[in-house]
Amino acid sequence: MEFALSEEQQLMADAFTELMESRNWETYFNECDNSSEYPQEWVEAICELGFDRILLPEEYEGLGMGWVELTAAYEALGRAGGPTYVLYQLPGYESVIREGNQEQREKILANVGTGNQILNYAMTEPSAGSSWDDMQTTYTRRDGKVYLNGHKTFQTSSMKVPYMVVMARNCEDMSVYTEWFVDMSKEGITKEPLHKLGLRMDSCAELYFDNVELEESDLYGTEGNAFMRGIKDFDQERFLVALTNYGTAYCAFEDAARYANMRIQGGKPIARHQLTQLKFADMKIALTNMRNMLYEIAWKYDNGQLGRGDCSMAKYYCSQASAMVVDNALQILAGVGVTGEHRVQRFYRDLRVDRVSGGTDEMMILTAGRFALRDYQ
Ligand SMILES: Cc1cc2nc3c(=O)[nH]c(=O)nc-3n(C[C@H](O)[C@H](O)[C@H](O)COP(=O)(O)OP(=O)(O)OC[C@H]3O[C@@H](n4cnc5c(N)ncnc54)[C@H](O)[C@@H]3O)c2cc1C
Repeated sequence: MEFALSEEQQLMADAFTELMESRNWETYFNECDNSSEYPQEWVEAICELGFDRILLPEEYEGLGMGWVELTAAYEALGRAGGPTYVLYQLPGYESVIREGNQEQREKILANVGTGNQILNYAMTEPSAGSSWDDMQTTYTRRDGKVYLNGHKTFQTSSMKVPYMVVMARNCEDMSVYTEWFVDMSKEGITKEPLHKLGLRMDSCAELYFDNVELEESDLYGTEGNAFMRGIKDFDQERFLVALTNYGTAYCAFEDAARYANMRIQGGKPIARHQLTQLKFADMKIALTNMRNMLYEIAWKYDNGQLGRGDCSMAKYYCSQASAMVVDNALQILAGVGVTGEHRVQRFYRDLRVDRVSGGTDEMMILTAGRFALRDYQ
């Protein structure tokens, strides 16, 4: 069994590592986090290296690579402290290519390589979080136009993206859930930013749609197919969150290890205390498990063998395991970690949010558990 990356994969990962070492990005990330700003400069730099082309098919001038390469890129960026959670939409062109009409595809793909925030998907509402049964946003047809009305909440990137794909129910038949490709500069749209515990380099907002006029050509995918589109793309979204969790934990672990070897208390480095070593053993086990799980899932996806519960399992496991790693790292850093602006403090806040966004831990358990049992029915 081959565990090493190929020469080509390693070269790509090394390019991201070199970029991360080329300047003190941490000062920039810290500024962006404090001011809740998207780190445009950083995303531009990694897109120049081809980050957003990794999964893009060659016919669209992409690199046509797979999840293994994406995993290696996320690992290199995360390990060096990069806020990879701001990148979730960039490998998502597959959905647009599959569901979008030509005009929609062109609008989105025109942004490849720019590092711009382009698109996100709006499902969640005050009455529809883990379950979409009580979704209230509707669309109705009048005089050849389509009108969208409703209120979406917790919408990532929505203060900046020019387009949102909005899920709504047909007023005439509420069992029909459909998605609409909405130009966010249209009349009738109001945005209200939300303040978050973590993940502050990406915006989050309430969105209000008041009789927003759409064309039939703004339909995204097929009418009535919104659930199926969501299900198709959830795996990738969950996998990306798990990759971020792992990379963030790796960075915290290395910061803590360097500190533990250097920090002298009672005449010796704290790394020599057995209680410290226990924490590093637990952290190393978790990192090894996360890495093995993620590369295996990536390989399975690339080879058409992805299991239905695999990505939910990874999101659930990695969000818990990375939280443990970062918590232990913070304990090692002690006063230095919890005061001032150490990046591990930021990671601690960020990882907590990931256990809710993109589907809660509990919903991941339900999916992973259901599919684990299905094999034995
Ligand atoms: C930072 C952030 C960014 C987000 N970005 C987006 C976005 O871009 N687009 C979007 O559409 N949504 C987004 N969301 C919404 C996110 O997916 C939801 O918050 C999440 O699905 C949970 O919904 P809720 O907060 O309403 O909690 P609820 O669904 O009300 O759940 C409350 C609690 O009950 C538990 N629970 C609910 N149902 C069950 C059940 N059947 N069994 C066991 N426990 C259950 C939950 O796990 C949770 O612990 C984002 C959320 C956050 C926090």
